Amino acid sequence: MHGEPKSKSEILSVSDGTLTEADARAMLERIRWPNGVHCVFADCGGAEAYKIEVKAGKRNDGRFVGPRHLFKCKACRRQFSVTKGTIFEDSKIPLRTWIMVMYRMCSSKKGVSAHQIHREFGIKYESAWFMCHRIRYAMQDKNPLLLSGTIEADETYIGPRRRRGSPTTRERIKDEQEMGLRPQPVRDWREGKQIVFGIVERGGKARTMHIKDATKDEINPILIKNIDLKESRLITDAHPSYRLIRHHLPHDVIKHELEYVRGDVHTQNIESYWSTLKRGLFGTFHHVGENHLGQYLSEFEYRFNRRKITDADRFYALLGQIEGRLAWYLKDDPSLV
Ligand SMILES: [Zn+2]
Repeated sequence: MHGEPKSKSEILSVSDGTLTEADARAMLERIRWPNGVHCVFADCGGAEAYKIEVKAGKRNDGRFVGPRHLFKCKACRRQFSVTKGTIFEDSKIPLRTWIMVMYRMCSSKKGVSAHQIHREFGIKYESAWFMCHRIRYAMQDKNPLLLSGTIEADETYIGPRRRRGSPTTRERIKDEQEMGLRPQPVRDWREGKQIVFGIVERGGKARTMHIKDATKDEINPILIKNIDLKESRLITDAHPSYRLIRHHLPHDVIKHELEYVRGDVHTQNIESYWSTLKRGLFGTFHHVGENHLGQYLSEFEYRFNRRKITDADRFYALLGQIEGRLAWYLKDDPSLV
């Protein structure tokens, strides 16, 4: 597990912005290697490494580099830094900024936009955007366990609302449509929207994903793969996609045209999850690209699934899962050296 926080003042310095670069590095070393520094190269994994300080100076290619704090593996003799193989690798942004932004993303309920990070920390917007996405990658649940117990599932549509023209114009158009002077709108309200499917354990974890179609062929395999079928009971609305799932686990349906609650049969937990997600997405992020929706979902899930612990614990837990890198951000990230 991740190293224990050194002191209360450490988390204070993260939240009030007084964290120094040296403290940030020490914090990361402690959390990454609680039992002493290990070689980060997968083909070695040597258990002994020592610190080396490389002075600032010109490199062979003529570029000037600042002082570097490296480790050298006793077994394979290779050098590495504390950020090697993590989401911070090769970033020009100071480690202290990374750590403070991570804390902000862990502690604010609706999330923090790249624009806010850009303004608050004085980083270029593009760099802030990539930074947030790298952090979302760390937030992703990479070894999801089966969900169990009383489970609610539902799908929701995320995307721009169509509200063109002023209220009076919209009213006039509606009147004209009713009088037959104008064709009835034929557009499907789902057009241009993204579908998100979600499963929530009552009192427990949520799992959400961006799907193409809310059909049984897409939804049933997700339910079967993510739920402990022997230990669970599923509750959904009367959407036809869930009709055959009763062959896999007990299934209760609440018909929303008739009622919203029948005893303990309701989908209020997943619905409240959707409302937090939508308030966050529209209020904070304004526009979420289709290609990146999945990563925003990881961010909301990360916070929700750790809602019962403190901001500080949620942050230290995230620092404990910074290893790994995303292929797509390495291509375009402007903050790379
Ligand atoms: Zn090694």
